[in-house]
Amino acid sequence: MEKPHVYITRNIPKAIEILSGSCNVTMHKGKAIPSKKEVIKNIRDKDGLLCVLSDAIDSEVIDAAKKLKVISSYSVGYDHIDIAAATGRGISVTYTPEVLTETTADLAFALILAVARRIAEADALVRRGKWQTGWKYDFMLGSDVNGKVLGIIGLGRIGSAVAKRARGFNMKVLYYNRNRLPIEKEDQLRVEYRSFDDLLKESDFVSIHLPLGNDTFHLINEQKLGLMKSTSYLINTARGSIVDEKALMRALREKWIAGAALDVFEKEPVSRSNQLLKMKNVVLAPHIGSASKETREKMAEVAAINLLNVLNGKRPIYIVNPETLSH
Ligand code: NAP
Repeated sequence: MEKPHVYITRNIPKAIEILSGSCNVTMHKGKAIPSKKEVIKNIRDKDGLLCVLSDAIDSEVIDAAKKLKVISSYSVGYDHIDIAAATGRGISVTYTPEVLTETTADLAFALILAVARRIAEADALVRRGKWQTGWKYDFMLGSDVNGKVLGIIGLGRIGSAVAKRARGFNMKVLYYNRNRLPIEKEDQLRVEYRSFDDLLKESDFVSIHLPLGNDTFHLINEQKLGLMKSTSYLINTARGSIVDEKALMRALREKWIAGAALDVFEKEPVSRSNQLLKMKNVVLAPHIGSASKETREKMAEVAAINLLNVLNGKRPIYIVNPETLSH
């Protein structure tokens, strides 16, 4: 029997190694991201696609893939894939939750500390030779993290892992979800439920851990930023478009809030003219939430196994649209 044909949009060695055993693998070569035209050309005759979050797998791409049975995303977020179009065609969409939870929570916490204690600014200052006075009582003063109030928007896998870290810093942790958790779970995580607006009003740090979708696009807008304390910080390691970036720039410029730390942006990579790059009270990271060697290896393994399982008629480890499985 002929081996299934698979297209992989990046050179992810571990995934290629796993897939090559039983599939004919075509890999996108070169450093540039494959264009939509290129993806369409390559998946026309493929049974499986392994993609990453910066590949827009919309209905046009999906319609062009007449034999496609599975789209395996190397990510937990799947906002880059038209799930309805895939499901309509009976194509399974798989993803990689859990294996990246702790690593992404580590980054969220690193950003909380970095923005509060001005670490990026301090590092740049020392490197530029601007540290000229030695120790000084009022030099580079930041804000404490310990003992403060952390507000988590989206207390799912990653949000809960951030909440656990906050305990070690003796923080009070508030959260907002559409569905309140059972009291036992709240007690176990030592978190308190608040309405969205109350969380914004009470928190010193607001950390976003929601998926991007129609109901979360620009969830943080001018009105919501206006509710935050002038001494508070916004941290986003979820998806850029959950925050209205223009509104955030205004809030930072006009000091409605004290600062922000961002791993994700409305447009990635960030353009050099983006005004956030000029702001001192902002820490910027290039979408590295899950970027540890260990975690990226695990994600590759899960993404490859998910894909193989669907092609072999087995249940994938993580599936977005289980209704596409025939058994
Ligand atoms: P998750 O376990 O599904 O948690 C999401 C949480 O958000 C759930 O508790 C959910 O609770 C809540 N939620 C969903 N929609 C909501 C809404 N409209 N309003 C309020 N709460 C809502 O997801 P996760 O694994 O923690 O991942 C979260 C997101 O992080 C991913 O979707 C991904 O985009 C992002 N991420 C980014 C990176 C990075 O590199 N920066 C890495 C990993 C993940 P309810 O359903 O009760 O509302």
